[in-house]
Amino acid sequence: MVLDNTRTLLLDNGYQPLSVVGWQRALLLAITDRVDVVEYYDGLEVRSPSRSFTLPAVIRLRQYLRQVRRAVPYSRRNVLIRDALTCQYCGSQPPRGKLTIDHVLPRSRGGDTSWDNIVTACAPCNSRKGSRTPAEARMPLRRRPMQPRLLREHRVALRVPDVPEQWALYLAG
Ligand SMILES: [Zn+2]
Repeated sequence: MVLDNTRTLLLDNGYQPLSVVGWQRALLLAITDRVDVVEYYDGLEVRSPSRSFTLPAVIRLRQYLRQVRRAVPYSRRNVLIRDALTCQYCGSQPPRGKLTIDHVLPRSRGGDTSWDNIVTACAPCNSRKGSRTPAEARMPLRRRPMQPRLLREHRVALRVPDVPEQWALYLAG
């Protein structure tokens, strides 16, 4: 494992994965007592003239984070990331500039602009669906849209092939 690429899994107060941070930030959080170190990378150390620190593999926030703060904010960009730049109707992955966002329940029928009612759609699917529901248009969604707890950017980081063994317990389920 290359030191520069070493990352630390950040858990919330309830041991749920929250994010992935670089080891420098993890060390800073640990040194300033904002997190407890749950797992270490044995043998991976950084040294200062007076001390050496074993790099944290998993850290846990000491302070309880309110749900509202850790929720991923709604934005068009974050919807596209959540859906992995994939049309949620046909599964195509056109260039980013050709993706649209679609109101599952159309706005004209009271659908709001929120995590649960917005999906990524390619332009052809969006216009084909028009102001119908997925059922009416016979265009089933590939996944039910929900507010993500973690952005896909983080999830991708959690799924790298070399996920450290120290993380495994905390990523289960
Ligand atoms: Zn499509």
